[in-house]
Amino acid sequence: MKVAISACLLGNKCRYDGSENYDPKLLGKLEGYELIPFCPEDFCYGTPRPTMDLVKEDGEIKAISNLTQADLTPPIKEYAKAFFNTNKEIELFIGKDRSPSCGVCSARLYDANKKLLSSEATGIMAQEAKNRGIEAIDAEDYIN
Ligand code: SF4
Repeated sequence: MKVAISACLLGNKCRYDGSENYDPKLLGKLEGYELIPFCPEDFCYGTPRPTMDLVKEDGEIKAISNLTQADLTPPIKEYAKAFFNTNKEIELFIGKDRSPSCGVCSARLYDANKKLLSSEATGIMAQEAKNRGIEAIDAEDYIN
């Protein structure tokens, strides 16, 4: 089975601050699967980079830079579409919990005034997986 997985969970130092989220327990559970890593934020914005948050604006969910307030969503969406178009046989998506790009049911969503609307939102890339009918789960939920 082909599994798309957030690259930081495999030990890639692609988090905003150059760190990783390596999780041997998770990898142990995925033995025998073909793992296909992705990191939309590193691809689009490099590492290190300023953080971003999910913000609901005009009825849309966007990834907004915490440094410049710029809308960072379009390149992340494009990366996600290209990734799933290239890797058509993916059956499972495992995203890093709470990430505004990769979190499946765990990202924080704010309104334009930074009021917290939800802690169970879906990140931009995880949403693309869901839109395509790919089973998607947060890494912490997969472990448990
Ligand atoms: S959570 Fe996603 S976007 Fe963030 S570092 Fe990991 S793979 Fe990259």
